[in-house]
Formats: sequence, C-alpha cells, structure tokens
Amino acid sequence: MAQCASKVVILATGGTIVSSGASATQMTGYSIQGLGVDDLLSAVPMLADAARVEAAQVSNIDSSSMTSKVWMTLARAVQDALDREDVSGVVITHGTDTMEETAWFLNLVLKSEKPVVLTGAMRPATALSAEGPLNLLNAVRIAADPRAAGRGVMIALNDVIVSARDATKTHPTNVATFRGPDLGMIGMIAGTHVEFIGRSDKPHTVETPFTLEALEAHVKAHGALPRVDIVYSHVDDDGVMVKAALAAGAAGIVHAGTGNGSIHEAALPALHEAAAAGVLVIRASRTGSGMTVEGLAEWQAAGFIPSGTLNPQKARVLVQLCLVCGVDAKDAFARF
Ligand code: ASP
Repeated sequence: MAQCASKVVILATGGTIVSSGASATQMTGYSIQGLGVDDLLSAVPMLADAARVEAAQVSNIDSSSMTSKVWMTLARAVQDALDREDVSGVVITHGTDTMEETAWFLNLVLKSEKPVVLTGAMRPATALSAEGPLNLLNAVRIAADPRAAGRGVMIALNDVIVSARDATKTHPTNVATFRGPDLGMIGMIAGTHVEFIGRSDKPHTVETPFTLEALEAHVKAHGALPRVDIVYSHVDDDGVMVKAALAAGAAGIVHAGTGNGSIHEAALPALHEAAAAGVLVIRASRTGSGMTVEGLAEWQAAGFIPSGTLNPQKARVLVQLCLVCGVDAKDAFARF
C-alpha cells in the first residue's frame, strides 16, 4: 500500500495482450480487433493497489509490423512521461515479437534514471489462461518500485525481469519466452514480491551519446531510421542477399553468421564489396547465445565489427543509432 504514492504511466502499443481469437482455445492466428488500453486497465482493477495509474494509447499494432515512426512517437511519449515530476516510472505494453528491439532502442535513447518496463502476453486476451493481466500488474509493481531505478529499460513477463540489453524472445508460443541467454535475468516476481538480483553492466539511458532529438530529425527527414539489413548465412550462401542489401541502399549490414560470426567463402567477396563502399558490416552469430569475437585476420582487416553479446536484431538497432548520431560503431560495439 505504501507504493500507492507512486504514479506509473502505462503506454499501450498493441500486441497479443490486446488481441482476440474466435474462441478461448485459439492461441495462434488471432488479431487485434478493437481492444485497447481501456480494456487492459479494466481487466486489472487491482492496479490501483500497486500505483496511481495513468494510461494512453500510442499505437495499436502487432509488433511484427513495428516501424521507426512508431518508435519515435513512443520514445517521445515515454520521455515526456519520465520528465514529469509526479511520475515514478513507465510501463509499455507491446507485442512480444519485436519487444526486445523496442526495449533495446529505448534503453539506448531515453534520458532518465526512472524505471521503464515493457510487458505483453503470449496468449491473446480472449484465451484460456491469458497471462496479460498478471504481466501488466507485475510490470506496474516493478515500475512503482524505487529499487527499479537506474537499471535501464527492462522486460518483465511470466514472473521474470530481464534487462533490455540482454533479453531475447526464445520461444514462438510458450509464456516462458523472454530470457537473457548466458546473461541471465536481473530480477523475479513471486506473488506480490519483486526481487532484483542484478543489473546489466553496460551503459544505458543517461550514459549513452544517442539522443532522441537526432533520431526524430532523421526520421522526419527520411521517413525511417537508416536502412540496415540482417543477412542470415547458411550452407551454399553465395552472397546474393548481401548484394541485394547493397542494391537496396543499405548503410549497414548485420551478417548473422554461422558459429563465431563465420562467413561463407562464397559470400565473402560481397561483404568486401560492401565494406569497400563504406557500408558498416557487423559480424553477429545465428547461434542464439554467447559472444561473437574476432575471427579470421582477413575479416578484421576488412573492418568487419564483431557484435559481442548482441544478437543480430539488437546489433542492427545499434548500427542505426550510430549512423544517425555520428557515433563510432567499433567503439559502440565495444561499449554498449
Ligand atoms: N504477434 C504478437 C506481437 O508481437 C506476438 C505477441 O504479442 O506475443 O504483436
């Protein structure tokens, strides 16, 4: 009850948490059919016990169709809320498909020590055992908790709190989907108990050089953040997708390589061509965990940058921010 002094702003963007199926047993193939932020709030009247809540709808989309433009609207709404003296923290409801990318983007761009927690659901609002309402209540509890400050942006679903930097969606349908492979969770929830057990050691929010103003100006002028393509390597990879990315005008290419960001010898000339043309080439790994580091001397000589512990989709966001904000990508991948 002491936490009721906290005010938490809930910003809704869409996702399964507001999706509807034809029956209580439909767990896939559902869609957003008119539910929104008001329905989220009315499903969880006990939110009032966790915090004073204020809510707004930012978008109402499936997160598989997330865009740079929605990111700008969302980031500005979050920053405005965080800048208010009466607000303790922000909760964002979001589809789980690209939640890790939005969370990571916000983690690098927002300028505040106040907690920001993304949550959602794997089962639609109409499903048997829909977990969205409890996830929302838990996210508000976290955002209202003074111990959550200074930890950067967090993802909280299914009683697990993971830092935005390390979280990834690991399962297409299971409610236990968000994890930080090899990197672990930073907290957990049991009943009404929120327990923090760690934090990411990497700089975030107020500690980064990325500014929302620069990103907004870019998106206003160009309609989107810079084109950065992810190219997934495989047996018989002949570099045709790298060439396609180049032809499409990519300013960066994240190569999701085999093993330690390895590159098929038949695809290497296309990546050399990209680097020679001034395109940033990042070597990430398709393995789903671990750390991508230096490989063949030839790759380093070509200027390919290893992604470290960032997965391909997180590496892509970091490249976009570096390009817009004029930050050295090699330095950024070493630091963030
Ligand atoms: N398709 C959904 C989305 O990302 C998946 C989810 O929310 O769980 O919006």
